[in-house]
Amino acid sequence: MVATKTITPEEEVWDALREVDDPEIPGLSVVDLGIIRSVRSGEDGIEVEYMPTFTGCPAIEAIREVIEERLRPLSERVSVRVTWEEAWTSDRISEKGRERLRMGGFAPPPREGLIELRRATKCPYCGSHDTQMENAFGPTLCRSIHYCNGCHQPFEGFKPL
Ligand SMILES: [Zn+2]
Repeated sequence: MVATKTITPEEEVWDALREVDDPEIPGLSVVDLGIIRSVRSGEDGIEVEYMPTFTGCPAIEAIREVIEERLRPLSERVSVRVTWEEAWTSDRISEKGRERLRMGGFAPPPREGLIELRRATKCPYCGSHDTQMENAFGPTLCRSIHYCNGCHQPFEGFKPL
């Protein structure tokens, strides 16, 4: 007897992933963050590849776990793996994701990467560039604390690669 295997439509997997928030930023899904590189669903189960946002970021493993947990009910075999083949860039963050970051007081990472690094980070509250980095390490390795001289508020920024 041949067991009939149910293949989960890939669109269903994407929908499930849209419900998975980045453990560091509640309300920002891993899809909006742009870290999902590929989704494959077939008779062998579900395979998801994701890209780490920042080298050495401790959230990499935490993200894998939450993705796996969310997809487990969809298939008997779920494989979630990190890929280093392609580098994540902040361009992959969706408009919705950027909006979420702004609302949360996060400064969306600069689009032009290293060149932008030398410029001050823009304050998400008042838009001033008169800011300074207070603590290069922040609460996690992925973020940094900035202070705005314009509106005198501290805010968190993403550390570019
Ligand atoms: Zn400000």
